[in-house]
Amino acid sequence: MVNEVYKLIIIGSGPAGLTAAIYAARSSLSPLVITGHEEGGQLTLTTDVEDFPGFPEGLQGPELMDRMKRQAERFGTSFIGDSVVAVNFKERPFTVSMHDQELKAQSVIVATGASARWLGLPSEQRLIGHGVSSCAVCDGYFFKNKEVVVVGGGDSSMREAIYLAKLASQVTIVHRRESFRAQQILQDRARANSKIFWCVPMEVTEVLGASMVSGVRLKNITTGEIKTINCQGVFVAIGHKPNTEPFRGELGLDEAGYIISPDGVHTNIAGVFVAGDVEDQKYRQAVTAAGRGCAAAMEAEEYLENLKSEFKS
Ligand code: NAP
Repeated sequence: MVNEVYKLIIIGSGPAGLTAAIYAARSSLSPLVITGHEEGGQLTLTTDVEDFPGFPEGLQGPELMDRMKRQAERFGTSFIGDSVVAVNFKERPFTVSMHDQELKAQSVIVATGASARWLGLPSEQRLIGHGVSSCAVCDGYFFKNKEVVVVGGGDSSMREAIYLAKLASQVTIVHRRESFRAQQILQDRARANSKIFWCVPMEVTEVLGASMVSGVRLKNITTGEIKTINCQGVFVAIGHKPNTEPFRGELGLDEAGYIISPDGVHTNIAGVFVAGDVEDQKYRQAVTAAGRGCAAAMEAEEYLENLKSEFKS
């Protein structure tokens, strides 16, 4: 068992966690990043990233994350390729527990992200990044003048459909019920869009295509009728799940499990900060998560400085 107390442990290795690591490492905090089992986070599930500033030709999601990791390493970040299963933020130094080890830290940044919910079909999983996506803003551009399907009936599905209708030639919303839980104003906007079509009450039973999406097979939930729609893209918009299980009872969480923060950086525990999609339900972009990671690292540095001066006085 190691007795070292880290100045800063960062939990999560998406854009928020790695940007926090770059800033903290350059401030000589020697941060430790616990990567989680999906190292690199959601961006490793996308192919081309064309909206991250500084890369005019675009780049692959995994490459962007690899670059961020190397940049964090260059300034002295260390990494553990494990997942956090529990924390104790009630006693200081804080404890961060993995399956077979326990580490102590004076400050922590939680950047565990959120995971898109998927339908769970093998064909869907096989074609993620090859026509199946969970983010219209990230991947919509690749479907310019193509036909796409959006699955879901909440606010996200309406937003995604409206966004995609600006690019795609046709957007079909597939939802399992006749009624939608999306806000009326979003439904009205989508209904008024001549490029958006509706398929209800339908469930997707298979995403079609060998190496790229070529369509979806649907089943009418009331009649059992089977139908096929041709499309090149499938956007699954059935919600996200914040990765906050280890923090239950330790940090303030809202009803959906997202970490509550007054400003997107502070939590209800002094010395524990948050960054990225684990708190942000709205923007969910790599660049906004990276921005919050930077802010969290700067706040952690200030917190540690204040601790030092308290200790001295
Ligand atoms: P959501 O509100 O939870 O809606 C998820 C949708 O997916 C529901 O219509 C649900 O169907 C459907 N669904 C869930 N599991 C499914 C499955 N296995 N197969 C097929 N369909 C399934 O999620 P969200 O739309 O991502 O929104 C999440 C939160 O963010 C909400 O609070 C929302 O208001 C907020 N948000 C707000 C905005 C905005 O512009 N203000 C934009 C995006 C998100 P059922 O309805 O049948 O359960």
